Amino acid sequence: AIVDRVAAAAERSDRTAADVTLVAVTKTWPAETVVSAYRAGMRNFGENRAEELSDKRPAVEAIVGPDSGIVWHAIGALQSRETNLVADNADVFHALDRAKVADRLSRRLVENGRSETRPLPVFIEVNLSGETTKSGLDCSDWEHSSEQQQALQQMARRVHSLPGFTPWGLMTMAPWQVEESVIRGIFRRTRELAHWLQEAEPDGYWLKLSMGMTDDFEIAIEEGATHVRVGRAIFGARN
Ligand SMILES: *Cc1c(COP(=O)(O)O)cnc(C)c1O
Repeated sequence: AIVDRVAAAAERSDRTAADVTLVAVTKTWPAETVVSAYRAGMRNFGENRAEELSDKRPAVEAIVGPDSGIVWHAIGALQSRETNLVADNADVFHALDRAKVADRLSRRLVENGRSETRPLPVFIEVNLSGETTKSGLDCSDWEHSSEQQQALQQMARRVHSLPGFTPWGLMTMAPWQVEESVIRGIFRRTRELAHWLQEAEPDGYWLKLSMGMTDDFEIAIEEGATHVRVGRAIFGARN
């Protein structure tokens, strides 16, 4: 049912289902739940905690094998002590928000050999709502703030120049429990920000957009999301 809703929303934005990756967020659910979703056809799974990812990935591989075609997405912001776990276990990282995390991830991606063979695709996390509880680079007033523009540009350059990364785009989270028009505005401004960044930093690729969760993934797709991170709508409420 969620795959169908993703496809319908993609068509409303003049795209197809193939243009949108549905990341099934399995945090708090055991490996068996991931395997069930895998057998039902899901291939992209998201975890917000580095340790949980590092435990669950081998547990799932023990059941379905290492060549399952599963893509593991680390979707949560990291403490710098967690960077090795993500560099070793994630196939995609959605929540880069600090220079120190970029530096430490890169160092590990060189150490573990991935920078040569399998660079880590990265989304920079941006905060468009200005809510201080949210992680992400403050881009709440990016249209008018050259300071915010420069901070994002610096992070983009860092990702582009450090070994081990493939720039992919921007990730954001909408505020909770606000009107649809506010959520839509945040997603739209995030897309505009990605286009701004692409012009400012044409050497990298920045146009993928990770945005939209259970309560707002269809709005996000209508506004251009290429990756939606959906947990509860697929698996039910978490404990
Ligand atoms: C948990 C989580 C999601 C999924 O949230 P749902 O409301 O269950 O769809 C998406 N993104 C991040 C970063 C998360 O931590």
